[in-house]
Amino acid sequence: MLYLDIIVDINCDDLDRSFQYKVPQALEDRVKIGMMVSFPFGKSNKSQKGYIIGISKKAKIEEDRIKYIDDIITSEETVETKLLAMAYHLKEYYGGNMIMALKTVFPVKKQVQHKERIFIRSKVFNHNIDDLREKLGRGKIKEEFLQYIVNNQFFYLDEVKKHININKKHLDEFEVLKFITRESREIFRNEIIKSEKNDFQLNTSQREVYNNIIRRWYSGNYIPTLLYGVTGSGKTNIYIELAKHVIEKGKDVICLIPEIALTHSMVERFCGHFREKVSFLHSRLYSGEKYDTLRQAKSGNIKIMIGPRSALFTPFKNVGLIIIDEEHDASYKSETVPCYDTRELAIFRASLENCPVVMGSATPSLESYYYAKEGIYALEKLENRFNMQELPTCEIVDMGKELKSGNRSILSRRLIEEIQHSLRENMQVMLFLNRRGYYSCFICKECGEGIKCPHCDVSLTLHNNGNLVCHYCNYTSPMVKTCPKCNSKYIGNISMGTQKVEEEVQRVFPKARVLRMDYDNTRSKNAHREILAKFGNKEADILVGTQMIVKGHDFEDVNLVGVLLADMAINSPSYKSNETCFQLLTQVVGRAGRSKVKGKAIIQSFNPDNSTINLAAKQDYLEFYKNEILFRKLMSYPPVSSMLFILAEAENKDLLYKGLEYLKKYAIAIMRDRLLKIIGPAPQVIEKIRDNYRGLIIIKDEDYNILIYIKDKLEEYISINSGYNKIAIKFDFIGGKNGNTTN
Ligand code: ADP
Ligand code: ZN
Ligand code: ZN
Repeated sequence: MLYLDIIVDINCDDLDRSFQYKVPQALEDRVKIGMMVSFPFGKSNKSQKGYIIGISKKAKIEEDRIKYIDDIITSEETVETKLLAMAYHLKEYYGGNMIMALKTVFPVKKQVQHKERIFIRSKVFNHNIDDLREKLGRGKIKEEFLQYIVNNQFFYLDEVKKHININKKHLDEFEVLKFITRESREIFRNEIIKSEKNDFQLNTSQREVYNNIIRRWYSGNYIPTLLYGVTGSGKTNIYIELAKHVIEKGKDVICLIPEIALTHSMVERFCGHFREKVSFLHSRLYSGEKYDTLRQAKSGNIKIMIGPRSALFTPFKNVGLIIIDEEHDASYKSETVPCYDTRELAIFRASLENCPVVMGSATPSLESYYYAKEGIYALEKLENRFNMQELPTCEIVDMGKELKSGNRSILSRRLIEEIQHSLRENMQVMLFLNRRGYYSCFICKECGEGIKCPHCDVSLTLHNNGNLVCHYCNYTSPMVKTCPKCNSKYIGNISMGTQKVEEEVQRVFPKARVLRMDYDNTRSKNAHREILAKFGNKEADILVGTQMIVKGHDFEDVNLVGVLLADMAINSPSYKSNETCFQLLTQVVGRAGRSKVKGKAIIQSFNPDNSTINLAAKQDYLEFYKNEILFRKLMSYPPVSSMLFILAEAENKDLLYKGLEYLKKYAIAIMRDRLLKIIGPAPQVIEKIRDNYRGLIIIKDEDYNILIYIKDKLEEYISINSGYNKIAIKFDFIGGKNGNTTN
């Protein structure tokens, strides 16, 4: 016997309230998560429709109290069916339970009130006022309102109320006399962004890419496209052309961007062509705004939705294209359960909609480029900037030498010179600091060498107890006092915050107007937009910021970009540190010289010979890819191999590590005949948050499905062992899956 968990209204708050039903044998083979079914409901057994959100073989209550469903309703292919299928996919592939998955996919609930306005239509417009007055009887307010409706044909009640103190009784009277009609109109709280009309023709290389993509679609080939185009090559205009094509066919477009700060500029560019058909979604909107935006998408008033990863859950009826801009960006990976990869999930949604996915980047993620090479994605390239603008020249400054010659400032002498130069010419400067805040970086300040784990080849970090620790395998070494490479004793932690940098810049350039943008001062709703607008209007000369200033923004007058410490990126404790560093530096360098004059970039580093830094300075992605993929192969890191991170948190440290040890043993036991690459338990990079200790285990395997199998087994093990009640565990998958969903 199969039992279904059925939810009557997917948009209600109470997702936990599902009802269990039985499936008649004849339907057993057909039921699937997300399907709409009909069933007898409540005492009266009134026929009701609802969605299947779970299928199991266990009854939750006494067997004979469970009713049978009547039928599967296939005639109504609803948006919800697809979104539910996505929720189910989330649960299956990324762990967690169905409720968490549903909350991810259906974030806004019905409880939000509609907002309405009374719309009034005058029936006496153009009449002679004296004729009307006779019917109406006396009164100052009535007289004023009569005048108003003779002069105005349509208006909203709230507009009149600003001038005339009219009440409901008056309005009733006017309506009875057939002087006016009233209707309640819903108003939508989503903001319409104004923008200039912006026409363009694709140039030859853009046209070629566009044609290739369209040709593949027509041949029915919907494998994802990776659009690798250098910064400023005009990828966005290709997105817009593709969107035009899809919208002409009556379909909808989802355009994903990595972060909220980029929403505005992308929306503006799309609005230049699609006007009010464009809208956006992100977490900073009020729930009323979100609610209205989603409803408008569902009703078809909006055809293009732009936003960070959750925009992927837009309830469009007929998605014709999913665009993922800056596909390499780490923010496409969710850090809360379910820890999904937006790119993989986008490809999954596309397979439900039977529509294409286009991902663009100037520095494709290693996995996407790998898939493209393997033929799992189609690869398109734009190798030159639009209008053949030259890439900026890039200089690498050795900070070790600066230190030796007595300059202890964050700003090297070369950078100071160049800033002076820019300011003198009335141009603008961006200074960039890679800072995620939670790790410090342990390096030799003479030769730039970082200390790496001999087993995992990731950077070690310094702990309170004075040891250097690997956050993958827990390899521990006592702190070294001299550099293993050059014997220098100038070895230790470096760290630096944006505020410090701002102060230092202000100290060196007291007359310059300095603006700062980081996580701390952009928490409010429109903070990003305001800071960027200020800088764009030349209300500041120098913008200091974290990675959030790097992406997407075009500032005509910026002719100098400085990277204050490339070492922070290169030594982050992750197998991806080279990749992240390359991406950041390439994007930063790409910011300079979008203007008429040629731009300049300066990268400061203690390790000026580092090959990643040098390749980024040259913007040589292909060479970087060649080097890095070798390292990944050698170490069995993604995309060559897949990884499952088992992340655990508990108040009691002993319990935490004991729990992890048992999970490790169990994983090894169930996979006996396979040599499992399992490392840890080790402390996480942030070892402790709010009195909770955090640890992890990592499992690597070439076969993603094996990892999913292990996750399922571990979830089961955790659920039946009460010892895990006091440990919070989440699963995080990396790599390996993207290609497979399309098959
Ligand atoms: P990318 O997204 O690849 O970094 P953009 O799409 O932002 O590049 O394009 C860079 C600049 O070139 C923008 O200012 C854009 O308006 C301009 N541009 C790109 N393609 C065209 C085109 N076909 N016609 C006119 N201007 C274009
Ligand atoms: Zn050294
Ligand atoms: Zn290690």
